[in-house]
Amino acid sequence: MESFKYVRVSDEARAIDAVAPPNARFIAGGTLLVDLMKLGVETPTQLVDVNGVPLDKIEKVAEGLKIGAMSRNSDLANHPIVKASFPVLSEALLSGASPQLRNLATLGGNLMQRPRCAYFRDLSYPDCNKRKPGSGCAAMNGWTRMHAILGTTDKCIAAHPSDMCVALVALDASVFVTGPKGSRTIPASDFFVVPGDKPDVETVLAHGEMITHVVVPDTAFAKRSRYVKARDRASYAFALASAAVALDLQGGTIKQARVALGGLSTKPWRSKEAEQKLEGQKASGDVFRAAAEAALAGAAPRRDNAFKVELGKRTIVRALELAGGAA
Ligand code: SF4
Repeated sequence: MESFKYVRVSDEARAIDAVAPPNARFIAGGTLLVDLMKLGVETPTQLVDVNGVPLDKIEKVAEGLKIGAMSRNSDLANHPIVKASFPVLSEALLSGASPQLRNLATLGGNLMQRPRCAYFRDLSYPDCNKRKPGSGCAAMNGWTRMHAILGTTDKCIAAHPSDMCVALVALDASVFVTGPKGSRTIPASDFFVVPGDKPDVETVLAHGEMITHVVVPDTAFAKRSRYVKARDRASYAFALASAAVALDLQGGTIKQARVALGGLSTKPWRSKEAEQKLEGQKASGDVFRAAAEAALAGAAPRRDNAFKVELGKRTIVRALELAGGAA
């Protein structure tokens, strides 16, 4: 039994103060953190419950859509503005987890999801660089069907688990954070990091910083955006491959494109290579396939996940067909 302190806070200043001890953690929906605590993977000494901090608004602002960090995934997915103007975000959220989990899970928690790698979650495997940096990686010579093929390093090959974050990257969203050193804004595509010298670090958020909200800008491509997720079951399953795409189509020509991938990579993966193949071209099956080929050109599959290369390409093509208006 691990003991820990539990603190409830109702404003940002108290939240930042309470989370200052090195092994303190924020808890909101708790849909992942509580799981990891039960498994013994996370062992915080203090939990700071931020459910009372008033950060749950979803509102239109001059820059676009402002989403509070405490917004529940269900509320965000079903918000009329999100459905009408940012469909990829609604689709990505509704493809994740289960209705019960979405009712509790928050935007902030979704941004901070830990990997779903089976070896990470199983303490009987001592070698996991994310649990214990420098211990090695049991997955490298293990079962890799669910693991990443893009953004992998010799430290870790775990796929990033979020659907929502893939959509935020495709939509050029920004993450707003505040902490003891002040507030800052981070583009969603820079918020996540591939496993480097500190493989247990998955985002650029410093300890003590708190996510307050996300802004999704109004763009010409946001309305024509779609999310396609390939997985083992029709619901309550993580992505084997997913694609969030957005197109600004004018007279059949793609003026601007966004392509972001999930299930295939160690972080939500924006593919500028695919976007370059799309922009300035007439929307067509051949152009979509060329973009998909470019997106996966750098893939590094392992023994059990080579199928993800073609699956990823077909997932991108299907998402582009849907965004482009194809049947
Ligand atoms: Fe740990 Fe990453 Fe290796 Fe999984 S893939 S065992 S999370 S280091």
